[in-house]
Amino acid sequence: MQAIRTEPANASDVKILLDVDDLPRAWYNILPDLPAPFPPYLHPGTKEPVPPQAFEPLFPKELIRQEMSPNRAEPIPEELREAYFRLGRPTPLYRAKRLEAFLKTPARLYYKREDLSPVGSHKPNTAFAQAYFAAQEGVEALATETGAGQWGSALALATNYFGLKAKVFMVRVSYDQKPYRKYVMNLYGADVIPSPSDQTNVGKKFLAQDPDHPGSLGIAISEAIESAVTSKNTRYSLGSVLNHVLMHQTIIGLEAQKQFELADITPDFMVGSVGGGSNFGGFTYPMIGERIHGNVETRFVAVEPESVPSMTQGRYEYDFGDTGEMTPLVKMHTLGHSFVPPRIHAGGLRYHGTAATLSVLLDSGLVEPRAVDQVSTFQAGEIFAKTEGLIPAPETCHAIRGAIDLALEAKARNEATTIAFNYSGHGLLDLEGYRQFMEGTLKNNGK
Ligand SMILES: *Cc1c(COP(=O)(O)O)cnc(C)c1O
Repeated sequence: MQAIRTEPANASDVKILLDVDDLPRAWYNILPDLPAPFPPYLHPGTKEPVPPQAFEPLFPKELIRQEMSPNRAEPIPEELREAYFRLGRPTPLYRAKRLEAFLKTPARLYYKREDLSPVGSHKPNTAFAQAYFAAQEGVEALATETGAGQWGSALALATNYFGLKAKVFMVRVSYDQKPYRKYVMNLYGADVIPSPSDQTNVGKKFLAQDPDHPGSLGIAISEAIESAVTSKNTRYSLGSVLNHVLMHQTIIGLEAQKQFELADITPDFMVGSVGGGSNFGGFTYPMIGERIHGNVETRFVAVEPESVPSMTQGRYEYDFGDTGEMTPLVKMHTLGHSFVPPRIHAGGLRYHGTAATLSVLLDSGLVEPRAVDQVSTFQAGEIFAKTEGLIPAPETCHAIRGAIDLALEAKARNEATTIAFNYSGHGLLDLEGYRQFMEGTLKNNGK
């Protein structure tokens, strides 16, 4: 690649920093601002709304309250703000000047650095909140599932910080083939169990069918739920999809809004990748609130893999959140709870559904979905590594692909569009996908 020359710029135009005191004191809850009422969670048998108390064996009470909160702002406790400082918050906003120059686009591109947390993704923003509130209520352990281990390592970090135990059911193929995040979890003291396991009835059932069962996220969720409700003083924890999880992640978008003000910009587009919707929702919801109130005209683009097209091809209907049919019914864009996603490298995007709040926004047209293929996302990742110098997670490559496409469309119209995207995580533990991409053996359907 030829050397890239950019126009001289003020340092503050390239890297936009906040002071420690600028860290938000409250999260933004989009529930009261949604353009249509939030569809309640339903009991699968009676089809009646599930009362909040029914969730108490599963989640800490404070998180159940947050899940259904009518308040636009929910305060962030001081002890948790301190933990956020230690995680590296507030995170910088960067201008992608070298990427702009490479694309020869008049568009201006900005990205929010969520890769700078100790485990390399945005996921600790909610892991710390969940562990904090669980510890406040005297809960001793959290059980959860993880695919490639991004969420498991975030929760292991957070539970260790607040003195809780973590039990992580990790999909067996990943446990065997991608051991590095398992070591990260172990180092923070978490108990990591390959799923299906013989520790739960659900797990035993699948092991009886096939002693070498490769496992799936759906089975691991069912095992974690069973383990939480049958173990003493243990609750279940989920890393995406739920309202309180997306709300904790709004720390990203609230910081970004202050940074947009400092840079004197209002993005024309905000872009993020979507698995369950937590990094996208966290980044965009505060600005979507501004759009709903008529203060901005920003458009919001949600990017998913073509091979897991829940937003672009899924049906908007009530479905189970897990494969084992243990959760209540959730109204969302879904491919069906028995959908088996192909083994693409963006493991964090392999979920059959979409967060219920995001589904309302998609249905209303406020969020515009796009699907991109695997090879083109790795191409975007390579361009980003060579221009900006950062190696993105395969999930993050979807957001970058979306932003590059918008920048090229702006170039075709010769418009100085402003595009901001969420850099959800780094790819330094995902190099196998890059190896296949460089060798030319990477396929779009992940087979
Ligand atoms: C988990 C993950 C995602 C996808 O999950 P969301 O809940 O949709 O944000 C995206 N990027 C990274 C780096 C992840 O770890």
